[in-house]
Amino acid sequence: MSEPILGSSMARPEILLAAHCNKLMKIYKEFTFEAAHRLPNVPTGHKCARLHGHSFRVRITVSGPVGEKSGWVMDFADLSTAFKPIREQLDHYYLNEIEGLENPTSENLARWIWQRLLPRLPQLDEIEIRETCTSGCRYHGD
Ligand SMILES: [Zn+2]
Repeated sequence: MSEPILGSSMARPEILLAAHCNKLMKIYKEFTFEAAHRLPNVPTGHKCARLHGHSFRVRITVSGPVGEKSGWVMDFADLSTAFKPIREQLDHYYLNEIEGLENPTSENLARWIWQRLLPRLPQLDEIEIRETCTSGCRYHGD
């Protein structure tokens, strides 16, 4: 009589779980801010040369091992705390007037946020910027 297949596979989930706990996992939190901008380097007549605003969405992803006791990569509240002072520099401002954002494309905005956030959030993995529901960019650092 052969050993039931179910019985032999019962031991596996624990082994898999133990190995899996040491692997990296990604978590993310989304933020929004409102801001005005215009793009100074687009061709003449391009609509983005005109002053306009967006409800920007920023998704910040961090990567790390899941703590054995905590069961999480990090506290979402700590992620919010790290981004708060950066968000305050952007929300309801004219982005072109901010140092380093003279050409505030989504790509440049992602890099600008990355440079300021990384020292506060070493586990930073990705920044996603969406300026409309259908347009955005993702940045993983240089
Ligand atoms: Zn725009």
